[in-house]
Amino acid sequence: MHGPGSSARVAEGSPRSIVRMSRHAAVEVDLDAIAANVRALAALAPRSSVCAVVKADGYGHGAVQVARAALAGGADCLAVAVVEEGQQLRDHGIEVPVLLLSEPPPDAMSAAHAARLTPLVYTPEGIDAAAAAAQGASRPWSVHLKVDTGMHRAGADPRDAVALAGRIAAAPSLRLAGTATHLAAADEPERHVTAEQLCRFREVLADLCRAGIDPGVRHAANSAGLIAHPDSHLDLVRPGISIYGLPPSPSLRGRVPLRPAMTVRARVSLVRDVDKGEGVSYGLRHVFDEPARLAVVPLGYADGVPRRLGTAGGEVLIGGVRRPIRGVVTMDQLMVEVTGGPAVRPGDEVVLIGRQGGEEITAQEWADRLDTIAYEVVCGFGPRLPRHHVTAGDGPA
Ligand SMILES: *Cc1c(COP(=O)(O)O)cnc(C)c1O
Repeated sequence: MHGPGSSARVAEGSPRSIVRMSRHAAVEVDLDAIAANVRALAALAPRSSVCAVVKADGYGHGAVQVARAALAGGADCLAVAVVEEGQQLRDHGIEVPVLLLSEPPPDAMSAAHAARLTPLVYTPEGIDAAAAAAQGASRPWSVHLKVDTGMHRAGADPRDAVALAGRIAAAPSLRLAGTATHLAAADEPERHVTAEQLCRFREVLADLCRAGIDPGVRHAANSAGLIAHPDSHLDLVRPGISIYGLPPSPSLRGRVPLRPAMTVRARVSLVRDVDKGEGVSYGLRHVFDEPARLAVVPLGYADGVPRRLGTAGGEVLIGGVRRPIRGVVTMDQLMVEVTGGPAVRPGDEVVLIGRQGGEEITAQEWADRLDTIAYEVVCGFGPRLPRHHVTAGDGPA
């Protein structure tokens, strides 16, 4: 982000003027926070390897930079959801093992093999496609068997686990390097479903043992499992949201010291006064009872600020003060009321998520207003917003 430029000062003393600026809006990512979060999480599971989940462009933070920071913080391997995400890591010279959390479609297996990804497989078709893709390679391709123990999304029925593991073992081009499951409600520690899932998973592992099949690396824990269910740690943990400094749910806040890595910043593009009785934004649903001053902020729902955030009570920080968004957020811009309080000028820094002065707006605050989870908030920031990755060595941002 640039400092307030000369154009920002044009509006001084002329609040009615409309001053145009180029767009200043960006996502800033603190890579030291990512490394520190991984270190803190790894300390919770000292006997387990750590697989940092960087799917969905590192939950909106920038997958390649996050991957490097997570490895610097002690992660042993990485995980993605789709083949292209794994290819991107390889294209940037990242050579650690990369788990592919969903079984790719058969026609994507060759690409997954070429990128040296480790797919989680769970269908006969997927296993056969993987075996075919690895045919003729110099070494067997490591794959993990994923078992559905209650989430009912991806994964094999536990009753099919031995047959599928046998199918992998019977394919000379494949090696069963791991066995995994995924927890459906580990972020609600009071529910006993997690214990039930882990029990079912242990039964699958015992079945494999009885069949003489080595399950390889056993893993189940997402962030919530890692933080709240030590019995889920097994050989490897797969934290995602927590490496970004966000607790998987508000109830798990404070169990481990986490630093949010993402700050969303912009600069005020315009300051304008409106008369009593006027409205703002599409539909003019917000009408001012008194003369008001508005600051226009140059990002909108196409960038990941949901249209309804304003009407849901959303605020931003300007000059260390909370200011309310007024009217609906538009595609590229949103309007904030700055009537009264410290003067606001074009070029002033706006923090949408993050700290400014003594105030902080968290992704969880947005999630609460929008009836969603922090995951969806951070993943929502789109590619049109530049990502600025900072470390302590960069000096003040
Ligand atoms: C996304 C994902 C994770 C990470 O989950 P968090 O809740 O973000 O920690 C782990 N395992 C699987 C299979 C996933 O899909």
